Amino acid sequence: MSARPNYAGPRRSHTTEKFKDHEFLLEKLAYQKAKIEKLSVKLTKLKKKVIQQNLHRIQLEKEIKKLTGNSVLIRNCLLCDKTWKASGQHRVAVLKCGHTFGNNCIKKFVAVYQMCPGCEKPAKTEDVHYINGL
Ligand SMILES: [Zn+2]
Ligand SMILES: [Zn+2]
Repeated sequence: MSARPNYAGPRRSHTTEKFKDHEFLLEKLAYQKAKIEKLSVKLTKLKKKVIQQNLHRIQLEKEIKKLTGNSVLIRNCLLCDKTWKASGQHRVAVLKCGHTFGNNCIKKFVAVYQMCPGCEKPAKTEDVHYINGL
């Protein structure tokens, strides 16, 4: 009575399948790697942008301190919560109190309410200062 069935055929085909699987996995891996590389390039660019923005902010905080004597931490325009810009309609503008806004936002607000929306100190249109060199 033979207790050893012949598995040579099925075993061979199993190995070939495994090998194909392996190739497929390698391809998949290479694809994932390329994806990650692309992503890291994007992240590096983003990081650079954030660093640049932060440098602008630090510079701006210094300028505001010089201009108004107030220490402030710049985040976004207090009125619309968007980031101020270096130029254009939403270029950064500061009031005597040290609060910062986009130019078009604060000009409109001050014209109507004649005060700072952050601390409610009196403010006029001519109290809106620009900061150059950003
Ligand atoms: Zn704004
Ligand atoms: Zn204020």
